[in-house]
Amino acid sequence: MEGMIQTFSAIVLRPTPFQEGGLVVSFLTELGERIVGLARGAKKPSAKWVSAFEPLGLVRVSFFGKENAEFKRVTRCDLVHSPLTLGALESNLVVACLADVFDRVAREGVEDERLFRLLSACGRSLKARPDRAMATLAYAEHWILHCMGLMPHPRLCGRCGNGEAPLVLFTEDHGWRCAACTPVDPSEALPPGTREHLRLLRTLPADEAPDPAGTEAAKAVTRILRDRLRRELGGARSYEVLDKLVV
Ligand SMILES: [Zn+2]
Repeated sequence: MEGMIQTFSAIVLRPTPFQEGGLVVSFLTELGERIVGLARGAKKPSAKWVSAFEPLGLVRVSFFGKENAEFKRVTRCDLVHSPLTLGALESNLVVACLADVFDRVAREGVEDERLFRLLSACGRSLKARPDRAMATLAYAEHWILHCMGLMPHPRLCGRCGNGEAPLVLFTEDHGWRCAACTPVDPSEALPPGTREHLRLLRTLPADEAPDPAGTEAAKAVTRILRDRLRRELGGARSYEVLDKLVV
């Protein structure tokens, strides 16, 4: 077979300049697979589609190419929804962080529809409530860790199975650990309300995600999960920018 055109709903992840004014763009398709396409001449002002390659834009995109080619060619890309909001610095930085994270987590040849559903929900939420961008980011981080199999369930202690004692520690080997089996200096223990905050993260939709700085428990959980994700993904430049600009 010479090649074929495939059309998807997809979310733009990372556009990278390529020879002669082209862009190499990674996408997360509606099937939850990462696809990389070459858009020729996409940076020329005359190109109608230049605005269609902004990170986290929801697009309808067509690819042409053989199954195992290094890049498929983008033959068409129409913007359906952009999460960017003019002047909303914090929200637009979160857009960059999420694009960065999903670009590393999504894989070529592996479909995970949960990733697309999660990122779509976060994009809609960022657009509707740019003032709640940090809540959307913390929500996304929690569910990405879950999709990666790195988010142990917080209902029962990962070491002794206790479901009542307060959670006091998070470790990579046992997950959440409770006060009944793990003695921790009170000044270093997770704050009261940790289990409750984790329950809210698991049960609320993206646009109602709990405030990541609303309580001491929320602050601690947000920091732990973000550190865990960044450790897993290695350095993330978008997060460094966020760290500098958002207090
Ligand atoms: Zn325990």
